Amino acid sequence: MRLERSWVEIDLGNFRHNLRELKKLLLPGQSFLQIVKADAYGHGAFEISKIAMQEGATYLGVANIEEAKLLRLQGIKLPILILSPALENEIGDILAHDITVSISDYQFAQELSRQAGLSKHKAKVHIKIDTGMHRSGLSCTDICSLWKQLIHLKHLDIEGIFSHYAASESDDAFSDDQTKAFAEALEQIDHHALYIHIGNSSALIKHNPPFANLLRLGILSYGVYTAEEQKTAFNLLPVMTFKSTLSQIKTIKKGEYLGYNLTWGAPQDTKYGIIPVGYADGYDFLLGNKAQVSHKGVLCPVIGKISMDMITVDLGDCPDSAVGEELTLIGATHPELRVENITRLYNGSPYELLCQVGRRARRYFYEDQQIVSSSPLSRRDFVSSDFSDNKLNQIIESAISQRLQSEEIGEMIYREILRSFFFNKDRDIHYRQNFRHSVELLHMTKDGLHYQTKTALTFDKVLQSDYFIVACANSDQLLSRYFKRKDVEYRWLMDDSIALGTDQFLLTNVSINGTTLFSEVSHSNGCMEIRCSHPSLSELVGKQVSFAIETKTLYPCNSHQLSIFINELTRGVEISFLYPPELSTVEVVSVFSGQNKYPEIIKSPGAIIVSTKAEEWVFPMSGIVFAY
Ligand SMILES: *Cc1c(COP(=O)(O)O)cnc(C)c1O
Repeated sequence: MRLERSWVEIDLGNFRHNLRELKKLLLPGQSFLQIVKADAYGHGAFEISKIAMQEGATYLGVANIEEAKLLRLQGIKLPILILSPALENEIGDILAHDITVSISDYQFAQELSRQAGLSKHKAKVHIKIDTGMHRSGLSCTDICSLWKQLIHLKHLDIEGIFSHYAASESDDAFSDDQTKAFAEALEQIDHHALYIHIGNSSALIKHNPPFANLLRLGILSYGVYTAEEQKTAFNLLPVMTFKSTLSQIKTIKKGEYLGYNLTWGAPQDTKYGIIPVGYADGYDFLLGNKAQVSHKGVLCPVIGKISMDMITVDLGDCPDSAVGEELTLIGATHPELRVENITRLYNGSPYELLCQVGRRARRYFYEDQQIVSSSPLSRRDFVSSDFSDNKLNQIIESAISQRLQSEEIGEMIYREILRSFFFNKDRDIHYRQNFRHSVELLHMTKDGLHYQTKTALTFDKVLQSDYFIVACANSDQLLSRYFKRKDVEYRWLMDDSIALGTDQFLLTNVSINGTTLFSEVSHSNGCMEIRCSHPSLSELVGKQVSFAIETKTLYPCNSHQLSIFINELTRGVEISFLYPPELSTVEVVSVFSGQNKYPEIIKSPGAIIVSTKAEEWVFPMSGIVFAY
C-alpha cells in the first residue's frame, strides 16, 4: 500500500490499446499525429510520445517551443509541429531544434524564412487555414493571394497544409462546411505539401475526408469519449487514474453540518472519511456535493465543498474501511469516474480536468501491471530564463549536503542542469567531459610493500587559467584543502608510509591539447604541489581543451582498497583499474550520484572498467572503491 497523499497512474498499455482501436478507422494512406501538448493532457509527453512512435505516429503536436524543446532534449527525434502560432523571438530555437511551425500570418513566415536563410536552413512549416473557427489561420478568402507570396519565401519548406474543426464532436453541418471550405482552398492553390490534415480525434468517425492523409489524435487516445456514437465504433480505456489514501475516518451526528459554508447537513449519524486531496491537487472545486470516489469497489459520495487540500466522503456504505486505504477519484473503476462523466457533473471540460489533475502528485507509468517509470513531484517541466549558474550551484551544493539520498532530488537536479545548459545557453558552468581515469598496479617493489603504480587521467574542460596544480599529500586532512581550490585538477592521496617526493610521485606526462607543460614542484605544509604551466596556455584560457595527466607512483600492498572520487560535475566517465594476476578477486563498489546511479561495470582478467554513457551526468561526491 502506498502512503502518498495522492498519485497518478498512467496505464501505457491502455494508451496503446486506444491507439490500436483508433488506427482501425484511419483510411488507407492515412497516418496520425499524436497530440502531446500540455504534457500530453497531463499524461506525460515523453512517455506518451514513445508509445505513440512505437504505434506508428508520424508526427507529434505540441503547443509551444518549450514543449518541443523538452522532447528534443529527452531524445525524441520524430518531427514535431507547434500547433499554435509561434512568436518571432522563438525562431532561433525553432531552427536550432528542427521544429515545424504552423503559419498563420505572412509577417511571421517572412521573418522565419529570413532567419532560416541566415543559417542556410529551410524551415519546415505547415500552413494553417481558417475554415470557420476564426481562431488562428490564414483566412480562406485571402489564401490565393497569400499563397503567391508564401511560395516566394525561399527558405521555407511548405511541408503541410491544415485546418481545424470547431465542433467535430457536436455539429455535423458546420463541420461539413469546414471540410468543404478546406477542400476548396486546397484546389485554389498549386501545392506540393506532403501532409494535408484537418481532423482532430473526434473527427475520426464522421469528418475524416479522404483527401487528408494525417489525423491529429488527442483526447480519444487518452481514453475519453467525446460523443455517444463513438462507444459503438471503438472501445476506449481511460489512461489516467487519480488515486489517494483515506487519511481519517470520523462520524458526524444527525443535524450537524460539514465543511466550508456548511453546505452539507447530516440526515442521520454518518461515518465519513477525509481524503488529503483538494482543488489545489486539481480536483475541481465545482465537484463539491456532486462527485463520487470509489473505495473497495463501492462508490462513496463527496459531501460538502471541496477545500484546497481536502475533501470529505460519505463512508456509510463502506462499514469496514480503514485509514490508509486506497481510493480512486478519477479513472476506470466505474463509469461514473470516467473523466467525461465527472466533468458532466459541473458542465466542465474533460480536457481541462486531465490537464489540472495531480499537480501535487507523483506519476507512475504502468505497462502490463508493472511500473515502468515514474516522474517526481516537481515534474511540471518549465523553462526559466533567469536560471543562473549561481542558482545551479546552490542546488548542487544543497543536494550534495544531503548526499543525494533522495531519488527525487537527484532527478530534479538532473533536470535543472539540463535546463540550465540547453535552454539558457548558459555554458559558463564548468564541467569535465569524457573523463577517463585509469590506475594500473604494475608489480611489487623489491621490498614487497608497494605496487609500482601508473595513473593516467584525461578529460576535456574549459581552461580556467594559464596554470593548474597537481597535489599530493599523506593524509585526507592535508589533501582536503585542495578540494576547495578551483585551480587544482588532480589530487593523489599517498599512503602515510611513503615519503613525499618525486621518486614516490612523479608526473610522467602533463599536457594540454598535446602540448607538454612545464612542471614545478614545491612542498608546503606537508603537501607536495606541482604547478603545471606553459606560456602558450594564456591563449587557450576560456576555451575547451583536453587535459592529460600521467603519473608514476607507489601504492601500498596492504591497503586492499583503492578509491577514486569524482568531485567535479562530469559528463561521461570511464574509470579503469588494472591489476596484476596475484590479485585474484577484486570487487568494485560504485557510489554514483546523478541520473544514473548504476554505471556499467565490465570485468575481465586483470581489469575492471566502470563507465557511464558519454552524455550521462555524474555529480560531485561520486566515487568508486576497488577492493582487493
Ligand atoms: C489540441 C489539438 C488537437 C487535438 O484535439 P482532440 O480533440 O484532443 O483530438 C488537434 N488539432 C489541433 C490543432 C489541436 O490544437
